[in-house]
Amino acid sequence: MSSAKGKLIRLVSRFALARGTVTSAHVVGGFQRLVLKSDAKKPAAGTKLQLLLPSDDVRTYSPIPSPDGIVLLGWTRAGGPGARWMSNARVGDVLPFVGPQRSLELAAGPVVLVGDETSVAVAAALAVERPGEVHAVIQSDTADGVRAAAESVGLRRLDVVPRGDTAATLEAVKAKLSRTPNAIVAVTGGSELVVAVRDALRRAGVTNVKTKTYWIPGKTGLD
Ligand SMILES: Cc1cc2nc3c(=O)[nH]c(=O)nc-3n(C[C@H](O)[C@H](O)[C@H](O)COP(=O)(O)OP(=O)(O)OC[C@H]3O[C@@H](n4cnc5c(N)ncnc54)[C@H](O)[C@@H]3O)c2cc1C
Repeated sequence: MSSAKGKLIRLVSRFALARGTVTSAHVVGGFQRLVLKSDAKKPAAGTKLQLLLPSDDVRTYSPIPSPDGIVLLGWTRAGGPGARWMSNARVGDVLPFVGPQRSLELAAGPVVLVGDETSVAVAAALAVERPGEVHAVIQSDTADGVRAAAESVGLRRLDVVPRGDTAATLEAVKAKLSRTPNAIVAVTGGSELVVAVRDALRRAGVTNVKTKTYWIPGKTGLD
C-alpha cells in the first residue's frame, strides 16, 4: 500500500532525488546484502537513506560506505513492503532515495552498538569509520545468520544474544565496558529492545548511552 509521503516524494523524484542502481544482490542469513551505484555523496556512519519503493512506500535503511558503492543490509523478515522489496531486489533495479541524512550521531571514540537485526548495518558502517573501536551486541534468534551477514559487511567484533534477553545483553555490554570504559553505548533497533536495554543500563549505572528506535511493533515505516 502506498503512503502519502511516498506519493509526494514520487512527484519530485524525477528531478530532485538521488538514484541508486543495484549492482550486486546476495541473500545471506535472512538478510539481503545490496550494493548500490549512485552519484549521491559518500554516506557517513550513522546516516540513513529513505528508499522510495516501487509501491510508493518509503522505508529507511542504514548505508555502509564501501569502495564498490553504498552497501545496504536489509532484514528480509520485517514483514512489510521494505522487507519484500529487499527480498526481491535484483541487479539492475533502480531506486530513488532521499539522503544520506543524519540519524545516529555519536562523539568520536569507541562504541558498543546494541541492537537487533536492523542494527547490523549501522554497526558495520561505524566499524568502517572507526576500525577496531566498534563492538556490536545483537539480539537475534538466528545467530548464525546474523554472524554471516555481519561478516559479509566486514563487522567482525560482535556478540549475538537471544532476542529479548536483556540480562545477557547487559552482561555482554558490561564485559566490553570493563575493557573500554570510555565507550559510548548506542542502543538501536525495535522499541521494546531499546526501552528494556536503556532501563537496564541506567539501573547498572551506565550513563554514556544514546538511543535510536528503528521500528515499533504494529507501526509501519518509522522515520
Ligand atoms: C534510521 C533507521 C535505520 C534503519 N536501518 C535499517 C537497516 O540498515 N536494515 C534493516 O533491515 N532495517 C533498518 N531499519 C528498520 C526498517 O526501516 C524497519 O524494519 C522497517 O519497518 C521495515 O519495513 P517493512 O516495510 O518491511 O515493514 P513495515 O511495513 O514498516 O512494518 C510492518 C510491521 O512489521 C513489524 N516490523 C517492522 N520492522 C520489523 C523488524 N525489523 N523485525 C520484526 N518486525 C518488524 C512491525 O510490527 C510493523 O507493524 C532502520 C530504521 C531506521 C529508522
